[in-house]
Order: sequence, then structure tokens, then C-alpha cells
Amino acid sequence: RGERLAALRDRPTVTADGAAVSLQANIELDSDIAAVRQVGADGVGLYRTEFLFMGRASVPDETEQYTAYRRAVRNLRGQPLTIRTLDLGGDKLSGAIDLGEQAPNPAMGLRAIRLSLREPGLFVPQLRAILRASAHGPVRLMLPMLTDLSELDHALGLIAGQRAALDAAGQRYDPAMPIGAMIEVPAAALMAEAFASRLDFLSIGTNDLIQYTLAIDRTDDAVNDLYDPLHPAVLRLIQLTLEGAARARVPVAMCGEMAGDPAYTRLLLGLGLREFSVPPNRHAEVKYVITQSHAGALEKAARTLSGLPERSARQQALQALNRGLQ
Ligand code: PEP
Ligand code: MG
Repeated sequence: RGERLAALRDRPTVTADGAAVSLQANIELDSDIAAVRQVGADGVGLYRTEFLFMGRASVPDETEQYTAYRRAVRNLRGQPLTIRTLDLGGDKLSGAIDLGEQAPNPAMGLRAIRLSLREPGLFVPQLRAILRASAHGPVRLMLPMLTDLSELDHALGLIAGQRAALDAAGQRYDPAMPIGAMIEVPAAALMAEAFASRLDFLSIGTNDLIQYTLAIDRTDDAVNDLYDPLHPAVLRLIQLTLEGAARARVPVAMCGEMAGDPAYTRLLLGLGLREFSVPPNRHAEVKYVITQSHAGALEKAARTLSGLPERSARQQALQALNRGLQ
């Protein structure tokens, strides 16, 4: 089996009926790029930059961030690097950033884009570092956890302001750097078309989308058994995101854990997903399932599964979908 997966490494990622699929990687530190290259991924679909801020006493400044992002994009040798802006708060904390008193409900509090927009002293150096890194290779900027268009417009305004500042200082950046957003809150999934029409790409973050749709804390073991990627409400929101983005003619990826679980690969292909971003150690298995699947033939079964109200029936339908895979 290991050999079979290794043999797939240099083959293109296409389904058995010829649909091309982009299979990118999720990373936490720029040093993970070695693993991305080793598995033969199509670039990085999610670089969780908050890990550069965690486990330390001071915030990395613009220069330190620029150096890390530039190193990552250079080491990718022409493949795209999707840099997600800070997603601190919730379960990801940095000793270098004082979020004040413990929030009553951190997952619903000042985290991700909300924190960045509240603290321009934190956000602006990161935007500048990402823009400057884009002079060295294909960089894409991705905003986490948007819920309202005003947050997007605020962030886009800050980016435009820093472009102007870099122009004035004679510093280089890619003026065409794509800007995208994560869809990880039901409100954003329901408004996917409106978000997409102001952006270059979307990426579905199922870890948070499931948490917020089902009101299940993703870190709380007491409710772990209720955390269900196959819940019809979750699958409906994924479909709505794909449909909304398609109307705006904007590509959609998925970078939550669901994308990296080979048990869901066929279901997601059937729902129309063609861009996956997965941890490097999941790459080969997901790629194998893609090559063993007829995307067109999966459509109907995926839709039927999505509408089944009983959990046990959905699980059976998933098994039927995956039949023939080993
Ligand atoms: C997600 O929410 O699915 C996601 C990819 O972001 P994170 O896991 O970093 O919150
Ligand atoms: Mg998330």
C-alpha cells in the first residue's frame, strides 16, 4: 500500500473521469514547506501564521514576519503560498498578546479577523510583511472568520492603504496578489456570493463551520460525539458556499480537517469541490481516493446523502459511496 501511494506522487491529481483537482497543503510553520514538497502538493492552501506568534514572549515584527513568509514562498519554487492572517484568540493564544480578561466565551469573542481589525498595531505589520513577500513568488492573502461584509471592506481598505504606503516608500509587492477569505461561520456561508463578489477566492474552514453550525465546542470532549461533519445543516452550508462562489465565478477550496479525511473525499467530489488543502501526511491517501473516483457519477449519491435526516443512514450512505476503496 505504501508503494502504491508513493507511485502516485508524481502523477497529476485527476479523477477517474478526468476532472482535475487541486491538492494543496496546510502548514503551521515555514519549516513545514519541506514536507509539502516531499509529498508533491500543489502549493500551500493554508499557512496558519498564528503559530509564528505562539509560545513566545514578544510579537514578531514586520521584518521577522517578512523573512519567514519570503523563505516559505521561495522554498515553494513557484507554487502558490496562501498566507492566512492571524487567527489568534479562541483556543489559540499567544503569551505575547494580552487579550484582557478571560473572555466568557472565547470562540465567540475577540478572535481572528475581529482581533486583527481591533488591533491595527498587530494587523498592519502583518499585512505589510505579506505584501512584501508577494514580490518573491505567488502569494495569496486569506482572511479568517469573517461574518459581515463590513469586516471585509475594513480589511480591504487597510490592505489598499499599505499598498499605497509601500508604493510611496519604493518597496516592491505583487499588485495582483489574490485576496480571499475563509468561510467558517454559517453567516458567511449563507452570504458566500456577496463575499465572493469582492474577492478572488474562498476557502471553507470546516473545523469552525461545524463548531458554529452545531454549537459544539471543537475542543470540548464532553460534546465530541455530537461533532458531525455529515450533519445535513453542515453539508447544506458547504453546498451553498460552492453555489454562491460559482455564481460569482470565484474558486472555492476546503482547508478544514474534513478535506483531509479520505472518508469524505468522494462525498466532497460529489458535491462539486475541486480544491482540497490537507495536512501533508494526508496528501497521499486523499490523492489516491481522488484517482479512484468518478466525480460525475458521485453527484447524485452525494446530494441524496446530504438530505438524509438520520445519522445512521448518512453513515451507511457514506460507506456505500466509498465501496471498492481499500
Ligand atoms: C477551520 O476552521 O476549518 C480552519 C481550517 O481553521 P483553524 O482550524 O485554524 O481554525
Ligand atoms: Mg478556523
